[in-house]
Amino acid sequence: TQYVYRFGGGVSDGGKGDKNLLGGKGANLAEMASIGLPVPPGFTISTEMCQRFYDEGERFPESLKAEVANGIAHIEAITNKKFGVAADPLLVSVRSGARASMPGMMDTVLNLGLNDETVQGLARVSGDARFAWDSYRRFIQMYSDVVLELDHGAFEEALEIAKEDKGYSLDTEMGAEDWEALVKRYQAIVVEQWDKPFPQDVHEQLWGAIGAVFKSWQSERAKVYRRLNDIPGEWGTAVNVQAMVFGNMGDTSATGVAFTRDPSKGDRAYYGEFLINAQGEDVVAGIRTPQYLTREAREAAGAKPASMEEALPTVYGELAKVFDLLETHYRDMQDIEFTVQQGKLWMLQTRSGKRTAKAALKIAVDMANEGLITREEAIARVDPAALDQLLHPTLDPKAPRDVIAKGLPASPGAASGLVVFDAETAEKRAEMGDAVILVRVETSPEDIHGMHAARGILTARGGMTSHAAVVARGMGRPCVSGVGTLAIDAKAKVFRVAGREVREGDVITIDGATGEVMLGAVPTVQPELAGDFGILMGWADEVRRLKVRANAETPLDCKTARIFGAEGVGLCRTEHMFFDSNRITAVRQMILAEDEKGRRVALDKLLPEQRADFSEIFEIMAGLPVTIRLLDPPLHEFLPHEEEEFAEVASATGIGVEALKRRAAELHEFNPMLGHRGCRLGVTYPEIYEMQARAIFEAACDVAAKSGNAPIPEVMVPLVATRRELELMKAVIDKAAKAVFAEKGVTLDYLVGTMIELPRAALKAGEIAEVGEFFSFGTNDLTQTTLGVSRDDAGRFLTTYVDKGIYPKDPFVSLDVEGVGELIELAAERGRKTRGDIKLGICGEHGGDPASIAFCEGIGLDYVSASPYRVPIARLAAAQAAL
Ligand code: ADP
Ligand code: MG
Ligand code: MG
Repeated sequence: TQYVYRFGGGVSDGGKGDKNLLGGKGANLAEMASIGLPVPPGFTISTEMCQRFYDEGERFPESLKAEVANGIAHIEAITNKKFGVAADPLLVSVRSGARASMPGMMDTVLNLGLNDETVQGLARVSGDARFAWDSYRRFIQMYSDVVLELDHGAFEEALEIAKEDKGYSLDTEMGAEDWEALVKRYQAIVVEQWDKPFPQDVHEQLWGAIGAVFKSWQSERAKVYRRLNDIPGEWGTAVNVQAMVFGNMGDTSATGVAFTRDPSKGDRAYYGEFLINAQGEDVVAGIRTPQYLTREAREAAGAKPASMEEALPTVYGELAKVFDLLETHYRDMQDIEFTVQQGKLWMLQTRSGKRTAKAALKIAVDMANEGLITREEAIARVDPAALDQLLHPTLDPKAPRDVIAKGLPASPGAASGLVVFDAETAEKRAEMGDAVILVRVETSPEDIHGMHAARGILTARGGMTSHAAVVARGMGRPCVSGVGTLAIDAKAKVFRVAGREVREGDVITIDGATGEVMLGAVPTVQPELAGDFGILMGWADEVRRLKVRANAETPLDCKTARIFGAEGVGLCRTEHMFFDSNRITAVRQMILAEDEKGRRVALDKLLPEQRADFSEIFEIMAGLPVTIRLLDPPLHEFLPHEEEEFAEVASATGIGVEALKRRAAELHEFNPMLGHRGCRLGVTYPEIYEMQARAIFEAACDVAAKSGNAPIPEVMVPLVATRRELELMKAVIDKAAKAVFAEKGVTLDYLVGTMIELPRAALKAGEIAEVGEFFSFGTNDLTQTTLGVSRDDAGRFLTTYVDKGIYPKDPFVSLDVEGVGELIELAAERGRKTRGDIKLGICGEHGGDPASIAFCEGIGLDYVSASPYRVPIARLAAAQAAL
């Protein structure tokens, strides 16, 4: 097998189609080189080597040596420089790069090839000793951190001391001798910490760096990132070795990052940041505040330092041409890294840019309208899950705001929460159910778990492309970055700004769309659903086949669901209505009653309440199907616990407290989820289902009479395992319907069906369909019962299961297509065989999960049902599945 692929100097062994093999970075470097863009020459060691490296105990096969030597020779031939030779030394970067971009999660080493001799050569050839020693100290620092894994604090401290000694405040004041002296100090630190001198052999350096980059695939932060982003561990990273170009060679040199469109709002404008006389890492690390790319952006921000367009107009012009070329070539918004070495432009990376949901929508709609992509492609471009960001409230523009600071609008959306100063606390408080805002000087990859746990992120340093900004946008968390006026004392857990003091636990609000930071919680308003969102959803609705319904049981949920485009209710859980504080006593009275007569007394109290519930829902869902599930949870869950709860029931029933307690003890269950619940309640106490059915039909008749637009009730019997259970329950429901219709003098259409949530029901679906007119796959319980895993207790081991690849994803979040999916497919098939027009749908969490929705499309279900806020996600996912 070939493991090394070259690029540059008219050669490209790979291209943009080779992402799996070469990683995104390597594939795109090869592609850019092949379309004639200026790319420093280099080579990529493939992801296959990463797999082999781990398979063989973190060692390289002997054969790789020659391949890498050939790769180096390729770079030497094009650059006319020699690796490790002082006269004119070749320096390289060793860069990670996986299939999917994992910004900042893995390691990169720059300026490799410098040692005590080549640094002299570099100084001579460049005529710039300061630059040479600056590059050397950067290299030692990075190599010590990434490859030798030494404590980087010691290096930062040494630099601070060196500057203090000289009375400098900026790195730029350091001269050649200062950097040289610092290099000596750095080398001493290496000996102190590592017991060996800093490696002088450039080949040792190279292999050290290659190994370290492969190893960074398994670093803790990379693993966390993969878990959060569903990136499989087997993919591995590639390693790119590439000739260095230098943005730190004076005032005609620079380095920057750019997007071909605004990644935050989606506007068609070049967008980016750059720094004169700096190396790549400086822009993202937030060490110096970067400058704007275009004059327009600089003026809009009211900033002083010249934009690239103004400071380096010729190269800027070239860069703008490259942007257009790349966008047309890739037919997508690109995220680009570039460096200017003494007036010459070099491209170092391009990839499809991460963007906010808002920008994703706008860019997709715009590009389709520009004719760059088709409408189908536009639909496919938007990640349904990301829509979540848009569907949540933003700050009420009319609400008063106590603005205490302003920073950069780094990631849109608004969030209020308690201030915390570190990732661990963020995670802990979030687990306790608190909304938190993570406040940091700047974030680093170690903070991602805390960023994920937080509702929003606020930083004192860093630009629009800083780590905090990029990661927050990717996660859909609002972020305000670079609030220079924030004085953060993380140890004392306090920040001061504008004469105010904010401590850990105080509430603040951030607005990622304006950059404002406010004291206290600011009220919010509903999102804007017209514009690009409406247009793209319209296109999606044209291509989708699956209907989308909502799981909703309150009038508010039903209204929200309709606004989001729900085409009916797929699951109305009636027990939520039972828990209502006004009714719970009557519910308890019913449960604790000694006999049917006692139960009927309590049920009579509940009937008008239930009828009112259903009337409201039917009015909102007029003309649409509404699936109502009859009482499902174990009676156990409704039992009184507190003394006063027993007393209330006692006074309502006239039964003594002691007798009630005895009855409650009788009802106690060891395994309530497999106990007296679902249709077992209806089988043992038919009067409960009878009351519910009556309430449904009375409400339906009332609404039909009032509005002339009858709802279509679908009465659903839960937890059926056998045909006979459903037959008994259907008789109860039909009898209630007949009675109500007779009383009201009308007849309405309705269906009686069942949830398929037990493996036996799935297997016997053919028989059950003789009675049931529809099936709704209750995949929460069907997953529990098929896997034999309790959803409420799975947290303890499921993450380990996912880490070890036993399940690809949490099966309660994304359907276990192989196992549970097979049961669903089989049940659908057997059900259809009996009853050709049987209605099939899915409710449960999976109804809002794009991967699960694709499965539902594949087996031809009629609809999916999701929680109201996930309805638009389901509509888009259903469209993508149909493409
Ligand atoms: P990441 O994936 O974290 O962005 P990169 O491999 O892209 O890591 O490199 C980090 C920084 O170093 C980037 O700003 C990149 O542009 C810069 N860089 C990488 N290789 C070179 C090179 N050969 N010459 C100059 N700068 C480089
Ligand atoms: Mg990069
Ligand atoms: Mg269930």
